[in-house]
Amino acid sequence: AVRVRFAPSPTGFLHLGGLRTALYNYIFAKKLGGSFILRLEDTDQSRLVPGAADNIEDMLEWAGIPPDESPRRGGPTGPYLQSQRLELYTQAVEALLKTGAAYPCFCSPQRLELLKKEALRSHQTPRYDNRCRNLSQGQVAQKLAKDPKPAIRFRLEDEAPAFQDLIFGWNRHEVASVEGDPVILKSDGFPTYHLACVVDDHHMGISHVLRGSEWLVSTSKHLLLYQALGWSPPRFAHLPLLLNKDGSKLSKRQGDIFLECFAAAGFLPDALLDIITNCGSGFAENRTGRTLPELIAQFDLTRITCHSALLDLEKLPEFNRLHLRRLVSSETQRRQLVEKLQVLVEETFGSQLPDRTVLDTAYVERIILLRQGHICRLQDLVSPTHSYLWTRPAVRRAQLYAISEKVDVIAKYVLGLLERPDMSLTQEILNAELKKLSEGLAGTKHSDVMKLLRVALSGQPQGPPVAEMMVSLGPKEVRERIQKVLS
Ligand code: GLU
Repeated sequence: AVRVRFAPSPTGFLHLGGLRTALYNYIFAKKLGGSFILRLEDTDQSRLVPGAADNIEDMLEWAGIPPDESPRRGGPTGPYLQSQRLELYTQAVEALLKTGAAYPCFCSPQRLELLKKEALRSHQTPRYDNRCRNLSQGQVAQKLAKDPKPAIRFRLEDEAPAFQDLIFGWNRHEVASVEGDPVILKSDGFPTYHLACVVDDHHMGISHVLRGSEWLVSTSKHLLLYQALGWSPPRFAHLPLLLNKDGSKLSKRQGDIFLECFAAAGFLPDALLDIITNCGSGFAENRTGRTLPELIAQFDLTRITCHSALLDLEKLPEFNRLHLRRLVSSETQRRQLVEKLQVLVEETFGSQLPDRTVLDTAYVERIILLRQGHICRLQDLVSPTHSYLWTRPAVRRAQLYAISEKVDVIAKYVLGLLERPDMSLTQEILNAELKKLSEGLAGTKHSDVMKLLRVALSGQPQGPPVAEMMVSLGPKEVRERIQKVLS
C-alpha cells in the first residue's frame, strides 16, 4: 500500500515551503489510493515553538489537504509525535549496540567544541574523529561507571550505498569521510533526526519518502541505518527547492510566508495550491485556475524535474481573483462567500451600519456578483473605496455647494430618474442620462456634476464611477441618500 508522510518539526508555523511538500505528498497518496500521514518531529525539545503543532495541522485542514493519520486524528501506527515514541528508538539503538553498529561516545562537549573550532580555523568542515569507536569493552565499562548516560553514535560504513532517487536519479554521498559517525541518541534519551526518521518511516510502513531536496545528502546515511537494522528502505523522491522569483531562499526575504497570514488576508486555499504547483513541475499540463481534484488527476511524478521552482508571489492576487470567480459561479460556494462577507462587513463597520438592510443576503449577494471581476479578495469589498456600499455618508450641504450651487436641481433630476418606470439601472443608461443633465445645466461642468453626486452618495470626492456606485447601491438606497441632500 502507498503510504507517505509529511514530517515537519514543530519549530515554527506552517509556511509555503512546508505546504508544498505536504501537498505533493497528499496528491501522490490520493492519486494512488494511499494514505497521507502527518508526523511531528519534535525531538529537539529546545526548539519547539508553542502552538506550532496545532497550527500545522489546522493549516493543512484549512488548505483542504487534511492528513489521514496525525497527532490529532490518531491512526493505526501512532502515536504521531516523536516525543511519544521514545521506546521505539531505544529498541533500535539497543539492536544496533548489540551488533556493534552503534557505540557509546564519552567525548565531553568541550572536546567536541574544540574539534569544531580547530576544523573551522583550518577552513574544514567539522568532523567527529570517531575517537570512541574502538574503545575496548573494559574501557567502556570503566567510562560507563562515571558517565552512565553517554550519547550513542552510529558506525558509518566507509562505502555508502548508491540509490536511485525517483526525481534526482542515481545518487551516492560519501558521508563517512565528511562528518564522522553521527550521534543517533543523545544523552538525554532523545534520538536525533536521522535515527527517528528511519525508525518511524519503517514502523509507520512508509512506502515513499517525498521531501525537500535539502535532505538528499542525508539519504545515504539513512540507507546505512536501514541496512544495519535489517530493514528494507522506502523509495525516495526529493522535491526541488521552492525559491523566490530571484532565486533567494523563501524564508529569508518574505516575512509573511506563513499560511496563517495568507488566510487572514483573505487568500483562498485553492489560489495558494494553484500558485505553488504552477511554478513547479509534475503535472500533465501547466495552466492557472486548477483545483485540487484537477491537480490530482494531472499529477505525474516522472514529470518533476530537478530545477528549483521560482515563486512569484506578486501574482497571487491574480490567482485569487481567478479562484474567487470560480467560487462565485457556484451557488453553494457563493452562499458561503455571502456569509463570509456579512461577517467581514459587521467586523469592519459594526456600529456604523445604518440598519440591517445593507446586510440583507440578497444585497450582499448582488454586490458580490456585480463586483467579482474587479476585486482579488473578498476583503477588498470592505476597503475604504468600498465603504460606501455599507455605510451612509454624513454629508454637509456646504460641502456640496462648494462643488456646485445646483445641488437641488441635480438631486431632483436623479430622483426623477429613479421614478421613471422605463428606467432599468444600467451603467450605460445612467451615464447617458447624467450626461444629458450636465448639458442642460449652463455653466456647470459634467465633472462637477459627477463629483457632487459622488460626494452625496459616498462622502468621498474620489472613488468608483458614479454610475457604478448607483448600480451597486440600487435605486432604493440611492434615493435614500440623495433625498438627504435636498434642502
Ligand atoms: N523534520 C524534517 C523537516 O523538518 C523532516 C525531513 C524528512 O522529511 O525526512 O523537514
